[in-house]
Amino acid sequence: AKAAGRNNYQFFAADMNKATAERLNIERKLRHAIARNELALCFQPQFRADSSQPTGVEALIRWHHPTDGLISPLRFIPVAEETGIIVEIGEWVLLNACREMKHWIDAGLKPMRIAVNVSARQLRRRDFCETVAGALAGSGLPAELLELEITESSVMENPEEAIQILERLGRMGVSLAIDDFGTGYSSLAYLKLFPIDHLKIDRSFVADIEHDLNDRAIAFGTIALAHSLGLNVIAEGVETADQLELLRANGCDEVQGYLFSKPLTSAAAFAFLHARCRS
Ligand code: C2E
Ligand code: CA
Ligand code: CA
Ligand code: CA
Repeated sequence: AKAAGRNNYQFFAADMNKATAERLNIERKLRHAIARNELALCFQPQFRADSSQPTGVEALIRWHHPTDGLISPLRFIPVAEETGIIVEIGEWVLLNACREMKHWIDAGLKPMRIAVNVSARQLRRRDFCETVAGALAGSGLPAELLELEITESSVMENPEEAIQILERLGRMGVSLAIDDFGTGYSSLAYLKLFPIDHLKIDRSFVADIEHDLNDRAIAFGTIALAHSLGLNVIAEGVETADQLELLRANGCDEVQGYLFSKPLTSAAAFAFLHARCRS
């Protein structure tokens, strides 16, 4: 048993080393990613659940490494968060997302919302509101068209502080969404205090909504709760017509997912949206 224990330990240590090495590797490459133009944004449209009219897009980051190829944000965003590189990347994402929407509007698109993901580390920075103001000023995008997606877990890290920041952003005219709702634990008392516009039901509750009664209860409960607080609900990861129908029939306001569209390049997103709604 002792030998097995030691072996397990060695395996564990080897895994740890591998994970650490990968992290360092990503960190080293990530430091150059912006300067070397390896980052890009793609855009996934969002729709009204009842009419399927587009309501906006979510900007999602992509990292095209010259030799490693496409690296998923699920792999590099956590490293960017831990090392603080997310601050620079986040600023880049904000400015470029705002610029794209402004550019599409100038090219004839009906003005609509652009949603940008914000990490916990960005939100904690004293100058975050100035960064947002800078992106709006630098792009010429009206504040009302920008929505910041903030995860449930990052606001719950320090709810008192989060309320202050979110209130400042709200006063600037920016909208706010709570992302990945249901995966962390929110105090309902706090939810009521946050000046938010949208709750996003996490994809993990939508995936099996047709068959898993617990997921269904959480999704429908979230919709009811959100509506009672005056918030709109967006369900993410909608892949099937049955999922859409269940969500729509239960009052879900907006949807996003592969059923409608995968994340698209800027040109493809503009063409897609322009074909479906003209200004
Ligand atoms: P998220 O904010 O929850 O974004 C939704 C993710 O679900 C995206 O993955 C999107 O491509 C994917 N998705 C959308 N519809 C469907 C569907 O119908 N089925 C399935 N299976 N997946 C769907 P992606 O682009 O790989 O991003 C993963 C996560 O990385 C995001 O999750 C977000 O947490 C983070 N992320 C992406 N871009 C940024 C960014 O610019 N800044 C920060 N801080 N985080 C980002
Ligand atoms: Ca998001
Ligand atoms: Ca608002
Ligand atoms: Ca999610």
